Amino acid sequence: MEFSSKLLERAVNEMSQLPGIGKRTALRLVLHMLRQPKEQTLALSEALQTMRKEIKFCKSCHNISDVELCELCANPKRNTQIICVVEDIRDVMAIENTSSFKGLYHVLGGKISPMDGIGPHDLNIETLVNKVKEGEVTELILALSSTMEGDTTNFYIYKQIKDYNVTTSTIARGISVGDELEYADEITLGRSIVNRIPFESSIKL
Ligand SMILES: [Zn+2]
Repeated sequence: MEFSSKLLERAVNEMSQLPGIGKRTALRLVLHMLRQPKEQTLALSEALQTMRKEIKFCKSCHNISDVELCELCANPKRNTQIICVVEDIRDVMAIENTSSFKGLYHVLGGKISPMDGIGPHDLNIETLVNKVKEGEVTELILALSSTMEGDTTNFYIYKQIKDYNVTTSTIARGISVGDELEYADEITLGRSIVNRIPFESSIKL
């Protein structure tokens, strides 16, 4: 792609770093920004910069938050004995939308995937195991997607905590294999959390 302006080229190159955005789409977006009022582009860039600089991860559940302890963890109405283990913040949002779960979450930040070089120590697993060791948690709901990596991660966590006094359950696999939680409709997802099954019965040991 030949550019008549270095400034334009740089903006297009930066934009095309985003997932799913090729050079052509990046060019279309950048030209759109040049046509819209200057304030609008500046507001976008300011929102991104501020988010990147100031956003925090909850010190307890690792959810994305504006403060040290996220709104969910800080809410005295939530049941602190049940922890739903999810891959990322999109799963927290999906499950919260169902209004079927009143416990707390633990965001792993991904799943174990040797192919992508992601091992257990790259994820927030240790802090989860520590919570179980502290003894207040009575149930862990493993709500990772039903992919091979999700299953591997579930099993790894299960092995770490099975000797402690905690019930481990998993969401019913009404959600078909390979589906990501965020794409499950709210009713199905809500139902599968309410009708969760003991983890032991979901695996062949
Ligand atoms: Zn939190």
